[in-house]
Amino acid sequence: MAEKSENKLEKIVSLCKRRGFIFPGSEIYGGLSGFYDYGPLGNELQFNIKHAWWNDVVRKNDNIVGLKADIIMNPRTWESSGHVLGFSDPMVECKKCHLRFRPDLLEDKKCPNCGGKEFSEARQFNLMFKTFVGPVEDSASVAYLRPETAGGIFVNFKNVLDTMRVKVPFGIAQIGKAFRNEVNPKDYIFRTREFEQMELEYFVKPGTDDEWFKKWVADRMAWYESIGLKNIRKFQQPKEELAHYSKGTTDIEYEFPFGWKEIEGIANRTDFDLKAHSAGSGQDLLYTDPDTGEKFVPYVIEPSAGVDRIALAVLCDAFNEEKERVVLKLHSKLAPYKAAVFPLLKNKPELVEKARGVYMELRKHFNVAWDDRGNIGKRYYSQDEIGTPMCITIDFDTLNDDTVTVRDRDTMEQKRVHISELAGLIQKAIE
Ligand code: ATP
Repeated sequence: MAEKSENKLEKIVSLCKRRGFIFPGSEIYGGLSGFYDYGPLGNELQFNIKHAWWNDVVRKNDNIVGLKADIIMNPRTWESSGHVLGFSDPMVECKKCHLRFRPDLLEDKKCPNCGGKEFSEARQFNLMFKTFVGPVEDSASVAYLRPETAGGIFVNFKNVLDTMRVKVPFGIAQIGKAFRNEVNPKDYIFRTREFEQMELEYFVKPGTDDEWFKKWVADRMAWYESIGLKNIRKFQQPKEELAHYSKGTTDIEYEFPFGWKEIEGIANRTDFDLKAHSAGSGQDLLYTDPDTGEKFVPYVIEPSAGVDRIALAVLCDAFNEEKERVVLKLHSKLAPYKAAVFPLLKNKPELVEKARGVYMELRKHFNVAWDDRGNIGKRYYSQDEIGTPMCITIDFDTLNDDTVTVRDRDTMEQKRVHISELAGLIQKAIE
């Protein structure tokens, strides 16, 4: 079973490389551990995941606004949040080969590099990447690459309150890069040193936080269903394992080929962050109820999801090997190409011209692929492998009656439809 699962991940890694989804980062220089680049199709997939999240979280709720803060912030942000002192993982060193590891990720307490069984005492290792701002590299110019996007939201809490006429309960959402100098990046894009997060800080009145927490866990589970992700479950963190600021945390986990792992964490962070940033900055971050005049520090519910982990979950879920084909059964919402257009024959200019017309028209609205190589069977195979939900073939009948053959990726069924129906058909599949 374990071997089969590992096999599956290897096949996905190979498909992603071969078909332009994911490449090792800076590969021509030998790569860099914990960094990956997204190719044209992986970039589209990520874009579609972020778009679906933004639509669901920001567009659907008229009391949630978006924001884009900088990656490098005043380092005092991370002193107040506790990251400078406390954002660390334990690290041990193998006494034989001197490589370093996170002890809780070691399998059978053996060094994955040399098999050694003796390790140094664990010491804490801060995960934040350090840099310097300006030309002088001294302790006064130290800054950090943000380890999570949430910090940018908390420091702008007052700016948003003052400019957007928002009333508690309300939320601020952000999608952006985060960086963690992980001791052991592993499991492909699951644990990397540079990744992207989609975070929401939802500010509520203390006392209503338990209800909102439950609502957000349910909403986030429903979102995963809406993008077609199966094999997910909720995991409620036991009280004794909760972070010091959390009143409750529920993880959403996916069953990866390497086991059940977190793709999103939803935490009731109480008033910890606003109070900490208020104390650290000396600014008043109180909220005043416009109706009653009551002043309080809101509690915050934080659903925090990783784009890369969700992309990997989606790829694992969609990957299917059938008798004669490999098919990525991606939801149309997420598929890099929504459809592919083919002229039946490449050497018939009238077919090619007609097909180009259909292709260029659909491209105005959707990301659509063009393929005129080899035979139709090979083109279907090639599109199945990258998850294109429908293939549209222009043949000689099209020249007479403007109908085309539409072939469905999952059922492989073919039907004849009029060109004027194509855009509607694609849109319906996305929705
Ligand atoms: P883990 O325990 O797996 O290290 P975490 O609990 O530290 O994760 P959070 O701080 O809750 O993660 O971050 C929220 C989300 O950000 C995670 O659910 C995950 O999707 C994503 N994330 C965190 N660390 C990484 C990483 N190193 N690589 C890719 N995504 C990550």
